[in-house]
Amino acid sequence: MITPLSLAIAAKRDELISLTQDLIRIPTLNPPGQDYLAICEYLDRRLAAHGFETQLIRAHGTPGDSAKYPRWNIIARRVGAHSGECVHFNSHTDVVEEGKGWTFDPFGAELKDGKIYGRGACDMKGGLAASIIAAETFIEIHPDFSGAIEISGTADEESGGYGGVAYLAEQGYFSPARVQHVIIPEPLNKDRICLGHRGGWWAEIETKGEIAHGSMPFLGDCAVRHMGAVLNEFENKLFPAMALRTTDMPVVPQGARSSTMNINSIHGGAKEQDADFDGLPSHCVPDSCRITIDRRFLAEEPLDDVRNEVTALLEGLRVTRPDFDYQLTEINSVLPSMTDREAPVVRTVAQAIRDVMGKDPEYVASPGTYDQKHIDRIGKLKNCIAYGPGVLELAHKPDEWIGVDDMIDSACVMGAALETLLLSKN
Ligand SMILES: [Zn+2]
Repeated sequence: MITPLSLAIAAKRDELISLTQDLIRIPTLNPPGQDYLAICEYLDRRLAAHGFETQLIRAHGTPGDSAKYPRWNIIARRVGAHSGECVHFNSHTDVVEEGKGWTFDPFGAELKDGKIYGRGACDMKGGLAASIIAAETFIEIHPDFSGAIEISGTADEESGGYGGVAYLAEQGYFSPARVQHVIIPEPLNKDRICLGHRGGWWAEIETKGEIAHGSMPFLGDCAVRHMGAVLNEFENKLFPAMALRTTDMPVVPQGARSSTMNINSIHGGAKEQDADFDGLPSHCVPDSCRITIDRRFLAEEPLDDVRNEVTALLEGLRVTRPDFDYQLTEINSVLPSMTDREAPVVRTVAQAIRDVMGKDPEYVASPGTYDQKHIDRIGKLKNCIAYGPGVLELAHKPDEWIGVDDMIDSACVMGAALETLLLSKN
C-alpha cells in the first residue's frame, strides 16, 4: 500500500544511506566501549535539528565505565501537539570486534549494489537509521500528532546492556508511565516480529586435583581427568535430556527451539607457552581444570531447574568418583522474555507489515538475549518487541551488510505503526 508517508520515506533514500554510513564510520567497538560520546553527539546534533529534546546520560559506575571509556547514552524525545501515548525506538550503538575475513573496510561503510557494508551495518546501525528516518518523516507529514516519539541510542548491548538500557531502566526511562510502546530495531528481517528471547545461565566449573610429578601421576590427582568425567556426564545425560525439551516460543533458527548449552572454554594444567618460547615443557599433574558453560533455556524451564540439573550431575560424581571435588561459580543469568501476541505494539506492527509488504508477518523469538530483558524486568514494560531490517545471520560476521531497500521497507512499517498509534482516530 502506497501512502504519502511511504512515498516521503522512499524519497529520502540518499539521506538514509548517508545517515547509515555516518553511523558505521564511528567505530563504537565493544569491548572496550569506545566512541560512545562521539556517536551520542552525532545523534544529538541530528535529532535536535529535527525538534527533539535530547539528553546525554552517562551510566556512571556500570561495568566498563571509566574516564577512558565512559558509557554514554542518548535519549531524544519529541512531544506532539496533543496528549497521547509514547512510542520509543531503542537501538544499541555498540558493535562487536570486526574479526578476520573482511573483503570490505569494516568501518568504511561502502555502498555496493544496494548494500552498505560494515561492522554494525545490520546489527544494528541500519535499524537505528531506519527508525530515525521513519520518525522524522512521520513528524514532517503529521506535525499535529498526539503523544510523543522517543529515540534512544544505548551502550553495551553486546556485553549485557548494563551500561545502557539496564541503567536507563533503573532511572525510570522505561517506566510504563513514561513510555507505552517499545520497538527495538534489531536485525530480525523486515517481515518478522520478534516477541522475546530465551533465557541464559552462565557458570564456571572448576574440578580440583593435586599437583605431583608427571612420571608418578598416582601420587597426585589429575583435575583434567575429573573434568573429563564431567564432560562425559554432559554427553551421556545432559545433552540428550536437553535435546528432548521443546518450547512453544517461536524461536529461530529451529535448532534453538530446544534447550542448548555451549562449552565456551576449557583450561587445565600448565599455562600454554607463548609462540616464541622454544623450550621444553615441565611435567606436572594438573591440580585445576576449569570450563565456562553457556546454557540457554526455554520459557518452560525454571532457572532453578537449569541450575539444579547441572549441580545434580556434579554431586553424582562426588558419590561415584573417588576424590572428585568441584566448585561451581555462577557468572550471570537472564530470564526468558516473551511479549503477548495480542499486545498493542505487536498487533500494530503486524498490521503495518501487512499494509506495507502485503503479507502476514512471521512471529519469532531470539535464541540469544537482547535489551528487551531490561525493559521487561527492570522497566516493568511488557509492550515491547524487536522489529528491524537486516538478516540476523549476518550479525557479527565478516562483510556484514544492510540492504537499502530493506531499510526503506522497514522504515515504512515503523512509520505506518506511528500513524496507527499517534494519530487521533476521530
Ligand atoms: Zn544487536
